[in-house]
Amino acid sequence: MDNCPLAVALGSNRPTRFGAPRSTLMAVRPLLERCFATWSGQELRCSWSLLHYTAPVGGPPDQPPYCNAVMLVKGIKAQPNEAHALELLDALQSLEHDFGRDRCAEQRWGPRPLDLDLLFWGELRLEHPRLVLPHPRMHLRSFVLEPLLQAMQAIHPPCW
Ligand code: ATP
Ligand code: CA
Ligand code: CA
Ligand code: CA
Repeated sequence: MDNCPLAVALGSNRPTRFGAPRSTLMAVRPLLERCFATWSGQELRCSWSLLHYTAPVGGPPDQPPYCNAVMLVKGIKAQPNEAHALELLDALQSLEHDFGRDRCAEQRWGPRPLDLDLLFWGELRLEHPRLVLPHPRMHLRSFVLEPLLQAMQAIHPPCW
């Protein structure tokens, strides 16, 4: 059953040890898919948007452009729930950290090597201090909505 798809938005606008934002997203793609397999304990179907270069929205002036993408995950057997979603957030934040993210040293919406936002998991609604679902600003952001539409058109594997 595919009644509970899950989506993650990726963004990068600072170099990492993998290189420029485009190289960072290429490097994170298999790691993110593995992260989801580990989290869910099953094989999943992941479809990807293309890479999008976008102008920064909000935050400090003169940030470099972002490279953005969205991954859509289907076929998760578990029903959406808060505890499981928080485990996933932990895994996403650990991956951000592996790519050099230091949230404490950042300005709000400032440049970052890797941002992984959970957009939605089925119809799950959360107002947890660490996790709000669906992502409360996704509907305002073309840099999220355009790649999300592409990922929903199931471009797999992505040609990047
Ligand atoms: P925005 O959420 O507006 O895109 P941001 O990505 O720059 O902002 P971060 O500094 O990366 O924000 O994260 C701040 C906190 O947001 C995280 O510590 C996390 O606990 C929380 N958070 C709440 N909801 C979500 C979500 N849906 N996905 C990821 N993080 C979330
Ligand atoms: Ca942001
Ligand atoms: Ca974000
Ligand atoms: Ca984030």
